Amino acid sequence: MDCRPIIEKLRKEQDAQMEELRYLLEHLDEESSAYLRAAAAEEAVRHFGRKIYLRGLIEFTNYCKNDCLYCGIRRGNQNAVRYRLTLSQIMECCKMGYELGYRTFVLQGGEDAYFNDERMCEIIRSIKKEYPDCAVTLSLGERSEESYRAMHKAGADRYLLREETSVPEHYAMLHPKQMSLENRLHCLEILKETGYQTGCGFMVGSPGWQLEYLARELCYIKKLRPHMIGIGPFIPHKDTVFAKETGGSLDLTLNLVAMLRLMNPNAMIPATTAVGTIDPRGREKAILSGANVVMPNLSPVSVRKNYMLYDNKLCTGDEAAECRKCLDARIRSIGYEIVTDRGDYREF
Ligand code: SAM
Repeated sequence: MDCRPIIEKLRKEQDAQMEELRYLLEHLDEESSAYLRAAAAEEAVRHFGRKIYLRGLIEFTNYCKNDCLYCGIRRGNQNAVRYRLTLSQIMECCKMGYELGYRTFVLQGGEDAYFNDERMCEIIRSIKKEYPDCAVTLSLGERSEESYRAMHKAGADRYLLREETSVPEHYAMLHPKQMSLENRLHCLEILKETGYQTGCGFMVGSPGWQLEYLARELCYIKKLRPHMIGIGPFIPHKDTVFAKETGGSLDLTLNLVAMLRLMNPNAMIPATTAVGTIDPRGREKAILSGANVVMPNLSPVSVRKNYMLYDNKLCTGDEAAECRKCLDARIRSIGYEIVTDRGDYREF
C-alpha cells in the first residue's frame, strides 16, 4: 500500500478506516508528509481563505486540584509559584487585547475551586458587558453540568477541554487513579449539548503513546465532531515524574494537524504554543499544515513564567500578544494574514 491513496481518501471523504490511519502514521516519509501537509493547507485555504484567527490567552490561575503526571502546574509540584489574577487584572488584559485587535479572550487555568460559578459568571459578564463584540472561551477543566450551564448563560461562547487521550489504558498512564476518563469524555458531550463551541485535543507523543492510540484518537475526534481541535507536542517538565521522558516530535505533530484538518475541514485548529516552543518556526509550519488559529499570551508579563506547563514554554517575545507587529510579519512571511474577527466556527 502507498500513502497517497489514503491521503486522497481523506481529502475526498474526510474519513478513513482506523487501519488506514494507522498505516499512514507509520509510513509517512518526507515526501508523502509534504504532500499530506500541502493538501491540508489547501483544504484550510479553501474554507477560510488565507486568514488566521487570533485568540488572546489569559492564564488567570495556576492553582490546580489535579495531579496530572505530565503537567508543570500539577498540585504536587511544590516548586510552582502559585498566583490568581483579580477581576481588574483580567479586565486589563482584555483592554490591552482589544486595542491590539483581539476579539476572542480565552480564560485558561488550573482546576481552582476559588473560581466558583459565582466568580466565573461575574468575570464572564464583565468581559461581555465591556466588549460585546468579543467571544469568551473558557478552559477550566472538568466541572459540573450545572456549572457549565451557568457560565454559558452568563455569556461564555466556547470551551476547550482536551481529552488528552480517549484510550483508557493510555489515560491511566497519564493521570492519577482519582481522575476518570469517563467523566472527561462526558464533560465534552455536556459542553456540546449546552451549546458551547467545544474544543478537544491531545498532546502528541505523551508517555506511553503508540501509533495505534493516535489512530484511535483521530477516530474518536471525528465522531465527536468538535468545533475546535488543539494538539501540541508533549514537552517534559523538570518537576514532574515525566521529567526524563522524550518529548513529542514536530514532524508527527504536523502530520497529525494535517490529518485532523482533512478529517474535520470546518474545525478551528490552532498552531499551539507548544509547537512554537519546540521549533522557532513551529507555528508557521503548523499553519502550512492546515492550522488556522494562533493563540498568543495576554497574561500580565509578571505571571507568565509561573504558568510553566512544560520546560522552556515560550513566555516573552513574538508569541506575546503585545507583539502584534512581529506576529503579523511572521504570518505575512508565509502568505497569510491575521484578521480582527471573533473567528466563530461555521458549517460550510
Ligand atoms: N485545567 C484545564 C484542563 O485540564 O483542561 C486547562 C489547563 S491545562 C494546563 C491545559 C493543557 O496543557 C492540557 O490540556 C495539556 O494538554 C497541556 N499540557 C499540560 N502539560 C503539558 C506538557 N508537559 N506538555 C505539553 N502540553 C501540556
